[in-house]
Parts: sequence; structure tokens; C-alpha cells
Amino acid sequence: KRVEIAAEEHRIDPALLDERGVKVVKGLTDAGFEAYIVGGAVRDLLLGRRPKDFDVATDATPEQVKNQFRRAFIIGRRFRIVHVVYGRGREHEVIEVSTFRALLKEDDAEQVQGNEKTSKSALDGKSHVVDASGRVLRDNVWGPQIEDAARRDFTVNAMYYDPQRQLVVDYHGGLADARKKVLRMIGDPETRYREDPVRILRAVRFAAKLGFTIEPKTRAPIVAMGPLLANVPLSRMFDEMIKLLQTGHALASIEELRKQGLARGVFPILDAVLDKDGALPDNVHGKFVRLALEDTDKRVAEGRSVAPSFMLACMLWGEVQQRWKRLIDAGEGAVPALQQAIDLVFDARVGDISGRGKLAADMREIWMMQPRFERRTGSGPHRLIEQPRYRAGFDFLALRAEAGEIDPALADWWEDFALGSEDDRRALLDQAR
Ligand code: ATP
Ligand code: MG
Repeated sequence: KRVEIAAEEHRIDPALLDERGVKVVKGLTDAGFEAYIVGGAVRDLLLGRRPKDFDVATDATPEQVKNQFRRAFIIGRRFRIVHVVYGRGREHEVIEVSTFRALLKEDDAEQVQGNEKTSKSALDGKSHVVDASGRVLRDNVWGPQIEDAARRDFTVNAMYYDPQRQLVVDYHGGLADARKKVLRMIGDPETRYREDPVRILRAVRFAAKLGFTIEPKTRAPIVAMGPLLANVPLSRMFDEMIKLLQTGHALASIEELRKQGLARGVFPILDAVLDKDGALPDNVHGKFVRLALEDTDKRVAEGRSVAPSFMLACMLWGEVQQRWKRLIDAGEGAVPALQQAIDLVFDARVGDISGRGKLAADMREIWMMQPRFERRTGSGPHRLIEQPRYRAGFDFLALRAEAGEIDPALADWWEDFALGSEDDRRALLDQAR
């Protein structure tokens, strides 16, 4: 049932709206299409938070959307959408525009054996495909708004906002759930997790980030459906893990994963740091990761960016050190041993994801700098502080000191050296001898 909610009731503060998001809606409605702000942005607006990004839903097809805007790009295959781009460089902003999707009716979908890799040709030119477990591999059939709402995940994520008439459109009691702080799956939860197991992780993420409780029927199938996550492509799992750790509530997210029995055996990177019970161990490694994640949460709260490479370098440092030590004990030199340890850990825990090259290079740089901090003689220190990524390497060193892994005096020395004059530096080098 379609419910229109007026401004007096929803009380969305127009000051939280994003000019570009509204511009995209206006561009489409001026051209005669229906268009709304949708999903997480509406949820955040209702909660009085400033949304971090604005998605738009419309009855225009991707091609029609593209034609309305100067800089617009059709992207995605599993799920075709349009990116409308404003501004340039670091200031640029992307508004995601998706076309209303038709409700998935199991019998209409074509089923393939295997996954998106093994059945690529079977997927060509088809718009609605599921695999043997019911997981949706293609979802590009357009439909009316009421069906678009029903195929979104949670009731609080399925509302539409018309910024021009200031109306919220709600089909599934999303407003009431937002007020009650409840995360409720639309439709039959088990079926919805089968269609897309990533919804399990989204439930965990939103619960941690919004401080919502997961409604009992939505929660019940999670443990049993957990193993389906093994069918999700590695890159998508990796992206979800980054999102979980960068919600600004990384530790709460890990705790929520633990409650759902998903802390171990789901993400190789978490397996590298959590103990058998899914908790951070009570040792230097556990403390180091805890400090790193607290730092991440703090940065997000302050609206600063977090580099995934830094956070992941922290997560995997314990294991890199273990392997490094084992290789040295086997007679390998310190630097080549560290190189090899890094390769082994990266292959085992990150694997073959898109964007691997850049990520690996950034993480390697942070790690390879660490032994160089131990050598405080000659021109080494001067060269080290000139490195473009010195700051990341030093921040990492400072966290190690705080966790009790190394002498805090070493981090202090480098702080003084980097800030000091040439005279100060000479004195510090003498002192370190
Ligand atoms: P965030 O604040 O993290 O961006 P969000 O709710 O906006 O949260 P997005 O991943 O940006 O999440 O997705 C936008 C919207 O698309 C969601 O609010 C939801 O309506 C829909 N959606 C996204 N992923 C799924 C999914 N896996 N299954 C069903 N609906 C989804
Ligand atoms: Mg979003």
C-alpha cells in the first residue's frame, strides 16, 4: 500500500539535502519522468543525519537518464545503473541513478548452474538470471515503483523522497520502523538472503552503524544462511568487509558479526586477527588492531577519510610479523624475508580482487618502512622522511608504540626528527648512536 507522508509528519530538515541530488531529481522530473531520492539517504534524513551519498530512483531507463545529463555513465552488469557526475578531481560527486526494478518472480528468472564466471555466455543478453541456490546474477528488468520498493532489502531502506513536494513515499512501514529503530527485511527473510547473501552482511552493518535492533524474523535465518556467503564473488565480499570496517563503528560491527556467528570463516582478513571465539585476542596484536580500529572510527566520526590500505595493513600486521620471523629463523635475510612474508599473507588473506595492485603497493610500502625506522644512522632517516608515504608509515609506527609492541621512545624520536631543524636532527642522530 502506497502511503504519502507530508513534511509535518516526516520532519525532514531540508538543510540536510544535497544540492546535486535535488538537481538530478529536478532534471528528470522536468523531462517528464518520475524521480525520487531513495534508500539510505531517505533513511538517514529521517534519522536527522546528513546522508553520505544520494541515490536517485526513476522510471527513466538508463539510456534515457544518460541523455538528460552532460556527464553520465552507464555502469554495472549484474545491476545496470547510471552515474551522474558533478565537479572534478577530489571535489567530484557522483549521484547514482537506478531505474525502478520489477519484482523478482522466481518462475520468470532463468536459472543457470554454476556462477557468474562459469556461465558468462549463458548470461549474455539476459536481464533476469538466478543460480541454483537462488542467488540473483542479473537484475535488469524494469517495473513500477511499488515493485521497486518490494525488492529493496529493509523497510527503512525502501522509502522515496520527493524533494520538490517534500513528500516521503513509504510502502512497507519504513517510517514507523525508523522511529522504532528496527531493521526489518521486506518479504520472506530466508528467500531474500538466498537471492543475495550479502544482505546478511548488510543487516549486520546497518545494525552496528545505526544502533538498530534486527527484528526477530529477520534475524532468525541468518545463522543457517551464513554458508551461502561462500558463493559470493571475492571482490564483492572484500568491498563489504571494507564497508563494515569503515562505517565508523568497526568494533561494533565485529561484535555484531560475533553475535551472528559470522566473525570467523567468512572474511579471511578477520580470520587473521580474531581468536576462536571471534574476539580480538588479549595480546599485543589484539591491542594493536583495537587501537587501529578505534582510530578509524574516530576519523570517520570527524568526517576525515580512512585509507583501506592503512586499515588493512594494521589488520594483517600480526600475521606478516609471524611469517617474517619464521623466514628469518629459517636463515633468510631480514628484508627479503619481509618481502616474502608480505606476498604470502597478501595472497592468503586478500587474494585476487580488483584494485589489488594499488592496494598491495600501498600496504607493502607501510610495512617495508617499519624496519627502516629501526636504523637511525647515516642518511637513512633523512631519506625516509622524504618518502611520499612517510606519514602513513609513521602513523603505523606510532600505533605499534601505543600498543606496546615497540619502545615509545622510538616513535617520539621520529616525530622530533621529522619536525626538527637541521641542528635538531644532527643532535638526534648523535643521541641515537
Ligand atoms: P549506506 O549508508 O551504506 O550507503 P544505503 O542503504 O544507501 O546505505 P547502498 O548500498 O548505497 O546502501 O544501497 C542503496 C539502496 O539500494 C539501499 O538503501 C537499498 O534500498 C537498495 N539496496 C542496496 N543493496 C541491496 C541489496 N543487496 N538488496 C536489496 N536492496 C539493496
Ligand atoms: Mg547509499
